[in-house]
Amino acid sequence: MTTDRPTGFGFETRSVHAGASPDPTTGARNTPIFQTTSYVFNDVDHAASLFNLQTFGYIYSRLTNPTTAVLEERLAALEGGRGATCAASGHAAQILAFFPFMEPGDGFLSSRKLYGGSITQFNHTFKKFGWNVTFVDSDDPENFRKAMTPKVKAIFCESLANPGGVITDLEAVAKIAHEHKVPLIVDNTMASPYLCRPFEWGAALIVHSTTKFLSGHGTSMGGAVIDSGAFDWAQSPKFAGLTEPSPAYHGLRFHETFGDMAFTVHGHAIGLRDLGPTMAPMNAFLTLTGIETLALRMERHCANAQVVAEWLEKHPDVSWVSYAGLPSSPYHVLAKKYLPRGKGSVFTFGVKGGYEMGVKVVETVELFSHLANIGDTRSLIIHPASTTHRQLTDEQRTAAGAGPDVVRVSIGIETVDDIIADLDQALRSATRRNA
Ligand SMILES: *Cc1c(COP(=O)(O)O)cnc(C)c1O
Repeated sequence: MTTDRPTGFGFETRSVHAGASPDPTTGARNTPIFQTTSYVFNDVDHAASLFNLQTFGYIYSRLTNPTTAVLEERLAALEGGRGATCAASGHAAQILAFFPFMEPGDGFLSSRKLYGGSITQFNHTFKKFGWNVTFVDSDDPENFRKAMTPKVKAIFCESLANPGGVITDLEAVAKIAHEHKVPLIVDNTMASPYLCRPFEWGAALIVHSTTKFLSGHGTSMGGAVIDSGAFDWAQSPKFAGLTEPSPAYHGLRFHETFGDMAFTVHGHAIGLRDLGPTMAPMNAFLTLTGIETLALRMERHCANAQVVAEWLEKHPDVSWVSYAGLPSSPYHVLAKKYLPRGKGSVFTFGVKGGYEMGVKVVETVELFSHLANIGDTRSLIIHPASTTHRQLTDEQRTAAGAGPDVVRVSIGIETVDDIIADLDQALRSATRRNA
């Protein structure tokens, strides 16, 4: 959580430098891992002003940590936002995104086409907080308008939706959110800020699972909420958590006191303080290191994915490929608008032979790893119906693009010919062709 951010530098420069400078005491060029729980006060007055939120500084690492603060500033700089709050995971970040303004009995609208874990989190665990989700089909943005009620306090969607390469018309959805004076929250995990920047289309908040492309190497769980700083929390009485006196801080009003940093300060001073899903400094360090090569990795991820998707589309054992980089995708036109630099590297395809064949393919690959993650340098594969989307009903699975024949891949940065050769041998042996 820092208040200034670099301006005028390109994306790749910000990926390497934003938020970081040589350590003033040691000269260490790379950002140190501040593996400490707490920080010594200068004196009692200093401690008091820190606790009163009158001075920015460090008290206890549940709230803020210098390594994590560099990552927060870098993420804000990459997305073009005002501030960021890191969390222990993407799911923790989703809780922090809603927490400042949701009260029991409030509602929000969400696209139905989401990461399976998010559907479960919203449908079951959020209900225990009294936060009620209404899912709509985001393919027609007007569905958000139709589902609007006075209780609705936010709209949630993914820019590029996991797993099916679905693209949301962010500009159209943001317009509806603005008309109803509620924030649009965009999960930008699958696109990463290199491919898509939702604030440029009107989103108010962005959430990330930094576990995926941002950390990029399958090493570290993490999440972040990034605030655009552009949403006016005072424009409606709906956001009392940010505008009304906070009893936990002697009646401090976050919006009045911190202006466009209100959401971010609240995220640390109340969200992390009281809910406690703090990112570990080691994970912040690994994520910072990953982000340095984000642009390079995303270019190769996307280039490889495009070649593999085109190859799969012609494969005799494959019935369909759902990748926004293919002209056959219903999202191809939206992809050109929202993802001009590449269409991501996670997509799905259908194997002829349904559930049984999907299982065989993931069990026969050798270079690919059969696991529940995306955004690693390595190529990954999963059969969603038997794993990530297992908890859902058949109907929810199909609506989320995870039917019985669906195989999801996250194409890595290996040599593309090797990726293709592995998929080819797996498809051939699963169907026993040429075996
Ligand atoms: C993985 C993922 C999440 C959840 O993030 P975790 O870091 O696993 O908690 C949320 N949204 C999307 C799109 C994801 O891929």
